[in-house]
Amino acid sequence: MFKEDKKVNSLYVHIPFCNHICEYCDFVKLIYNEEFAKDYVDSLIKEIRSYNIGKVNTIYIGGGTPTSLNIDLFEKVLSELSPKLNDGGEFTCEANVESLNKDKLLLLKKYGVNRLSIGVESTHDDLLKFLGRHHTFSDVKTCIKLAKEIGFKNINVDLIYGYKGHTLKLLKEDLENILSLDTPHISIYSLIVDKGSIFYNKGVTEQDSDESREYYDLILKTLREHGYKRYEISNFAKPGYESRHNLTYWRDEEYYGVGLGANGYLNGERYANSKSLYIYNKEYKAESEVITDEMAKEEFLLTNLRLEDGFLLPRYKDRFGIDFLEEHKEAITKLVKNGYASIDENNFRLTDDGLMIIDSLILDLFNK
Ligand code: SF4
Repeated sequence: MFKEDKKVNSLYVHIPFCNHICEYCDFVKLIYNEEFAKDYVDSLIKEIRSYNIGKVNTIYIGGGTPTSLNIDLFEKVLSELSPKLNDGGEFTCEANVESLNKDKLLLLKKYGVNRLSIGVESTHDDLLKFLGRHHTFSDVKTCIKLAKEIGFKNINVDLIYGYKGHTLKLLKEDLENILSLDTPHISIYSLIVDKGSIFYNKGVTEQDSDESREYYDLILKTLREHGYKRYEISNFAKPGYESRHNLTYWRDEEYYGVGLGANGYLNGERYANSKSLYIYNKEYKAESEVITDEMAKEEFLLTNLRLEDGFLLPRYKDRFGIDFLEEHKEAITKLVKNGYASIDENNFRLTDDGLMIIDSLILDLFNK
């Protein structure tokens, strides 16, 4: 089995608490409770210390809602993580508008957090209500203005499209409103109704793929016209503001993952932590799996091909000891001929049409 001997440079930290539960959500989360949060932060710190992490280039605190922690617990987590970041590293914290106040912004600044990812989801108050969010677009504007005043430049906002009641006209308005926030990074996801969500139980459905393509094309065109590069299927950034942490996942590199339900990838093995708070507080890991060569190749393509620039062919050869173009000669010829992929010199990437059907293209490559 292939193993890369390299330093792990990224750390993901999961804070599972939220102040309320959104109807579309299938993440690992639970309603904030002070006592549970206190025990959880103690367990989390024990888990972080169990890895002997040293320094990393990126840290990402995600959730759940990291900013739902009270200020003391939040400081406990940040002060544990801050010394682990290399100089010039990227330190991201996800935040919800309702719980990101001035004190928490100042605390984030104090501990070196230099990137915020804020869940906006919609700029229409009635649709925010439909999604089960508790903020308004006016709250978003106030929050981002305050974050900028405190000195945060690198800000991402998340938007959701493709659900009942969300028309092309509303999407166009969402894009205009989001652009008016003037953040250098925008993530836009089409709604997925997962089985664990309240939406699923209520029978809410996703858009069909033809309709979804029309919406996606509008997003791509609008954001490109405003100077954002789509560097990953759902992620758009001004030059220099791509998420370095998320690029770790999309380049299929290894990372530490700590916290309830967190996933990690270390020494050729993927692992998942327990999703039960009770179990996690006693024993973190729930399962792990050694990644075989065949699995590693498939994962490499599934992640790297989400990137607009694809991947450098020598990287594939270095990692797997085989030439990608030789290995999949027939399938690649077909993909290029049908306009789904392109090869230039040392690079292999999917075209706009190819990116839209990435999962089925990869199944074809592996004859599944
Ligand atoms: S979408 Fe975010 S804020 Fe809402 S329940 Fe899920 S993790 Fe919590």
